[in-house]
Amino acid sequence: MLGARHFDVCVIGSGIAGALAAYRLAAAGRSVVILEAGKRFNSGERLTQLSQHQILRTPLWPWEADGRDGFVDDSQSAIGYSYRLNRSRVKAVGGSTLRWGGLINRYWESDFRTASMYGHGMDWPISYADIESYYCEAEAEIGVAGIQNPSDPPRSRPLPMGPFPAKFGEDEWFSVAERMGIEIGYSSHARNSAPYDGRPACAAFSVCPICPIGARYGADIHVDKALETGSATLFENTVARRILTQTSGEVSGVLATTMDGEDVEVSADNYILAAHSVESARLLLLSEIANSSDQVGRNLMEHWYTGAGGFVESSVYPYRIGFETLECNHWYDGPARRDRGAIKLSFIDRRDPIQIGLREGLLGTDLAQKDCEEFGRWVGVAAEIEHQPNPDSRVTLSESEVDQFGDPVPHVRFAINDVDRKTNAAALDIIQSLLEERGCRDIEAIPEFVRAHHHMGTCRMSNDPTQGVVDADCKVHGSNNLFVAGSSVFPTSGGRQPTLTLAALSLRLADHLLKAA
Ligand SMILES: Cc1cc2nc3c(=O)[nH]c(=O)nc-3n(C[C@H](O)[C@H](O)[C@H](O)COP(=O)(O)OP(=O)(O)OC[C@H]3O[C@@H](n4cnc5c(N)ncnc54)[C@H](O)[C@@H]3O)c2cc1C
Ligand code: SF4
Repeated sequence: MLGARHFDVCVIGSGIAGALAAYRLAAAGRSVVILEAGKRFNSGERLTQLSQHQILRTPLWPWEADGRDGFVDDSQSAIGYSYRLNRSRVKAVGGSTLRWGGLINRYWESDFRTASMYGHGMDWPISYADIESYYCEAEAEIGVAGIQNPSDPPRSRPLPMGPFPAKFGEDEWFSVAERMGIEIGYSSHARNSAPYDGRPACAAFSVCPICPIGARYGADIHVDKALETGSATLFENTVARRILTQTSGEVSGVLATTMDGEDVEVSADNYILAAHSVESARLLLLSEIANSSDQVGRNLMEHWYTGAGGFVESSVYPYRIGFETLECNHWYDGPARRDRGAIKLSFIDRRDPIQIGLREGLLGTDLAQKDCEEFGRWVGVAAEIEHQPNPDSRVTLSESEVDQFGDPVPHVRFAINDVDRKTNAAALDIIQSLLEERGCRDIEAIPEFVRAHHHMGTCRMSNDPTQGVVDADCKVHGSNNLFVAGSSVFPTSGGRQPTLTLAALSLRLADHLLKAA
């Protein structure tokens, strides 16, 4: 066993939740140890990763490790397909932001109060106002490009960078919006629209899952910043396997094992569990702690995509940049939300007739003809919809499969309810009306309940220990030194990308620990 060491704070997981907290604590002089299950991917390797995993389409992403990342999925009966967990998370230094989409949003004020405003979901024990200043700080740390759209919630500081211009062909959506009396605004991005924080502006290479120049933010940036303070230590390739407690309930250490099989034990004054929704719940369950309410692992949430598209007369010249630039929140909130969840719309234009033709069995001139007729003439609208908290949507421990260390792998089951189905149906109706107004022909829906890769819930926040796992400060109920960072603490999912909110909560948690010390 590597020698036991004591730190001020132990952070489990080096994704954006763990990295931001670790950086803020280390910058304030606290000794911090970060335990990270995955390895580091240097920016110099990005071109190789691109060629191997985007062009050659090798089956495993470079950060997947079969023995470590096993899971059992049981979502088929609810959402219609098996949830491929390892496509929706990254275990590496920097975590899932190594391949995220980089769209970034604040939740709306109503997202924190859906139970009292609309009669479903659950109110958060904190409000938008409680974290508004942390939203500003998170935007500055990450480097967010965007603009305050008229319907956006109030902000006390401007965004660090201006928005990306609308893509070619998207101007027509502004005309549609004017005719329908709705607002379309610009999306916000965790990618630089101008040089920022020593990183270049986006060069629009259109390969965003792995940005080759670092224009899109990845949390490895804040891991490095934490290490540069000299107060942080990183154990990579090191899997936390048990959180050790004393009879008082106080956490006394974390037992981890390296991918080479060597045991590591660290102890600290305080512990931050930042392993993302599935693994944070799993580690609490493996450690048999924090679950007197039977809430650990429950209310696992996603954002679901649905949508439709059709053909327009002239080309919209797709594939020029790798991300969407506009969004519509007209149907996000309001009285209709009593019957269904929030709906955020975005506008898409990517559709490859060659791939579709091949799937249809076309070859040769038939395939070429399809490509000539269809390429660039397809436009679509995608809806990102709120997923209601649901106790049966959950992470448990597998009773049949173990990982390379002999620990039960997570058993994942995403489940949806009637409100989710209504949200999906409402979104499709709205999209149909937009596409018709745009003059699209041959409108076809794309599949329902497509995952957005946004995991939330499993350790939800509640002032009532019987209803949640952590309190409003993200401290585990019944513990005085164990905290959870990340979207696992979200009581509800909203309908907007989650990462800015979890980043704001991480900075707030770090400040809480600094003030308490
Ligand atoms: C393809 C894709 C696209 C996305 N697009 C967007 C988007 O556009 N906008 C948005 O807001 N969000 C997006 N997301 C979601 C976003 O990436 C996550 O919300 C965010 O990165 C979660 O951060 P985290 O730090 O909580 O978790 P993670 O980034 O997943 O980090 C958790 C870390 O903990 C480590 N870990 C796990 N278990 C252990 C253990 N036992 N011991 C030690 N370490 C452990 C993991 O290896 C990992 O590095 C996307 C995600 C994916 C996969
Ligand atoms: S378009 Fe290119 S440069 Fe811009 S963020 Fe995406 S991958 Fe990076």
